[in-house]
Order: sequence, then C-alpha cells, then structure tokens
Amino acid sequence: MTHGHTCTVCHEPIPDQGIVCHACWDRTVAALASLGALMADLDITITGQGRMPFGSSGSGGVPYDQKAAGLRDTIRAQLVGWCLLLHEDHHMPLPNDTIVDMAHAVALSDLRMHEAAGEAVAEITSWPAAIRTAVDWPAERSVVRVWRCPQGGEGWQCEGWLHVHHPTEGTPYVSCHACGARWETLEQMDELRAVIVSQRASARLLTAIFGRADQVRRAG
Ligand SMILES: [Zn+2]
Ligand SMILES: [Zn+2]
Repeated sequence: MTHGHTCTVCHEPIPDQGIVCHACWDRTVAALASLGALMADLDITITGQGRMPFGSSGSGGVPYDQKAAGLRDTIRAQLVGWCLLLHEDHHMPLPNDTIVDMAHAVALSDLRMHEAAGEAVAEITSWPAAIRTAVDWPAERSVVRVWRCPQGGEGWQCEGWLHVHHPTEGTPYVSCHACGARWETLEQMDELRAVIVSQRASARLLTAIFGRADQVRRAG
C-alpha cells in the first residue's frame, strides 16, 4: 500500500498515505479559498442582469443570468456533497450551510486522505475558471452590436453599427464596421457617449463595455 505510492492526479510519489499529493491538495485549498470572492462576483452577475436597461426589451436576450445561477447551484450542490461525504466517512462536523463556511471546512479537512480525493481535486480546482468565465461580459468574449454609428459630416451619415469588442487579450474597444471609426481609450468612449444622445443607447453601450449593472447605474 505504501510501496510506490503515487498521487492519483499528477502521479508524483507521495511520502504518506494521502490519495493526492500535497501540491495537488494545495491547489485545491487555493481554489476553495478563492471561492468567497468569486461567488460574490457571480452573485453580481446573477442579480445584476435583471436590472439591465435592455434586459426586458427583447433585444438580443441575455441568457447569462440563468447560466450563472445554474453554475452557482451546481457548485453549491457539489460542495454540500463533499461536506456530507467527509461527515459520513471522516466524522467531520457539518459546517454552516454557506459557500464560504463549507469551503473553509473542506479546506481544513483530511479530504486528501479520502479515496475520492482525486475526484475532489479535479472538481474543486475547476470551479474558479468556471466562475471567471461566467462573470465575463460578454459570454463569448466576442462582439456586441450596440447602436447606430454616429459618424457623419457634410452630406453623409454613416449607416453602420457600433460594435463593442472584447478581445481575449487586452481591453475592450468600440468600432464601426462600416466607416472604420474606432474608440479605444476611456476618454474616447466618453466622447462617444456624449455624441449618442439617447440615454438608452448610452446605457447599452456602457453595459456592453463594462458588463456591470453598477456601471450602468452610475452612468444614470
Ligand atoms: Zn499530485
Ligand atoms: Zn460608422
């Protein structure tokens, strides 16, 4: 049992009876420790969507709140599962029924020694990335069409649409696919917001850029 004993996750040798090694368990504890802050972000995503100015207008639809809520429910259920397992098999006292309390209890537990530890490491360490993906806006880190392009001049008015781009790397920017105009800095975006006088368009632009209801409210 002790001979040639290796981690079920990374297959490194383990000096004790653990099912997973200390390095893998450390990653798990770090994921559990980050859960409180990440869940707070996720809650903002879930509750904030309902207050978006165009959320009920039927323009495009924003399915992400349900998705984020589903993720929260899944993580909570999985966390409850690990607590119950540790309670039954390792006599761990049941913690309070909050994400933070349960995560804290699991982090301090001897789950590393449990036969299901490999499964626990895989599951728990997947949570932070899943939450970060869910709180990103837009969901696909792509392009959101927001409003008519305001560019124009003597005798012409651009017929294009403004798009907010969220590159995978770097900061968001706004551009018009028709005339090629581009707004990159916060100052430029603010100028753009001043040009598109409609409050709804302005709010929609900010939401597409920042994706947070609080930013929209601040823009009033
Ligand atoms: Zn390992
Ligand atoms: Zn244009």
